[in-house]
Amino acid sequence: MSRPRRVRVIGAGLAGLAASLRLAETGVAVILHEAAPQAGGRCRSYFDATLGCRIDNGNHLLIAGNHAAMDYLRRIGAADTLTGPEAAAYAFLDLASGERWTLMLNSGRLPWWLLRPAHRVAGTRARDYLSGLRLRGARPNDVVTDCLDRSTLIFRRLWRPLAVAGLNTEAEQGSAVLLARLLRESFAAGGAACRPLVPREGLSESLVDPALLRLRALGVELRFGSRLRAIEFAGERAAALAFEEGSERLTAEEAVILAVPAPVAGRLVPDLVVPDEFRAIVNAHYRVPAPEGAPLFVGLIGGTAEWVFRKRQVLSVTISAADRLIDMPAEDLAARLWPEMRRAYDLAERDLPPWQIVKEKRATFAATPAQQHRRPEAATRWPNLMLAGDFTATGLPATIEGAIRSGDRAAALLMDC
Ligand SMILES: Cc1cc2nc3c(=O)[nH]c(=O)nc-3n(C[C@H](O)[C@H](O)[C@H](O)COP(=O)(O)OP(=O)(O)OC[C@H]3O[C@@H](n4cnc5c(N)ncnc54)[C@H](O)[C@@H]3O)c2cc1C
Repeated sequence: MSRPRRVRVIGAGLAGLAASLRLAETGVAVILHEAAPQAGGRCRSYFDATLGCRIDNGNHLLIAGNHAAMDYLRRIGAADTLTGPEAAAYAFLDLASGERWTLMLNSGRLPWWLLRPAHRVAGTRARDYLSGLRLRGARPNDVVTDCLDRSTLIFRRLWRPLAVAGLNTEAEQGSAVLLARLLRESFAAGGAACRPLVPREGLSESLVDPALLRLRALGVELRFGSRLRAIEFAGERAAALAFEEGSERLTAEEAVILAVPAPVAGRLVPDLVVPDEFRAIVNAHYRVPAPEGAPLFVGLIGGTAEWVFRKRQVLSVTISAADRLIDMPAEDLAARLWPEMRRAYDLAERDLPPWQIVKEKRATFAATPAQQHRRPEAATRWPNLMLAGDFTATGLPATIEGAIRSGDRAAALLMDC
């Protein structure tokens, strides 16, 4: 087909927002349909009545080397809404031994930080880090532990936490190729790329609300509560979209970007193979004053909690690949994680503060080799239908960066028609 004059983007998660932005910037008319009453999908903030404040659905971490995300933030005028340390500094606490350390990378590509014991993971030697190079030879069906030795200290204190957080999948099941890609875009790119960044206020305030403002300014029509039920196909084209509120025929000059989660895309598009195994993420939010001067986040080794974050109004725990905890009652989880939070931030002994547990059961697709093979390309066999979303074949695990790249790619494919 020739370059479309109007595009219907379905789904206002980050992939759909990024696609809409790209298209609207080039002067294409865009209608963005979102089933929920709000945008952001799996990356958003909301008011929690129990805590009496706004929280994020889950703690999200970006790094400065997430170039598509940084570019998106600049284009929506929100680059200055992120905050983080000046350098690539990652604080850790080993709950078993009580040791603390801060992994501190120098900004250039040459890793001279490895030569300074105080910049390394406690107890590791410079040569231990060479083990990471084994991921470069990873084959498509390798899992992380095929390449990295689980009996080593560096595995326990660095490779495993990175793999679980980055892939949202256990190291024994996660794709080594995907982890290698993550490390290539972070560690191997130097400390400047690894500088961690989090929203100063909240996910919606950084990544979603400014995007909606920009899209409106560009003339994008936003339709919330607009759920796509079916796509009608006729020959070579997607011909009509059936929404709950009624059907819309697609003219010859219209195209569609489907930026919905994998299971929804799988239902809407005939014969589409998509990831069908997922991993949970559990977050525990505690309403306590943030300790002055404490790190923005701390990685915990050897506990149930994996990362704790200091947010504006809450302290927050994140646990990835948390399927084993999904059925645990929220009260038990809150009580189990609170002592680990207290230790991470050296908080005085006190009763459990007001808390909220957020369980995202299908937070991301499982980043296993088998699921990796099920990720579809953006282009479909219908030239006026493209796919976007973190589950498409971005080469990255399910991340903000992957979602935004997928939206950019789907838009670019339509523009190149
Ligand atoms: C708890 C948690 C923590 C995370 N932590 C990180 C992190 O630290 N760093 C990081 O980079 N990534 C992280 N991620 C991953 C990141 O949030 C996702 O990869 C990204 O938000 C996915 O965006 P998306 O647009 O692909 O999908 P989604 O956000 O799922 O967006 C899809 C949208 O489509 C809408 N929709 C669904 N069906 C229909 C329909 N039929 N019609 C119309 N609309 C529909 C949905 O309502 C939704 O708004 C985390 C995710 C979770 C859940």
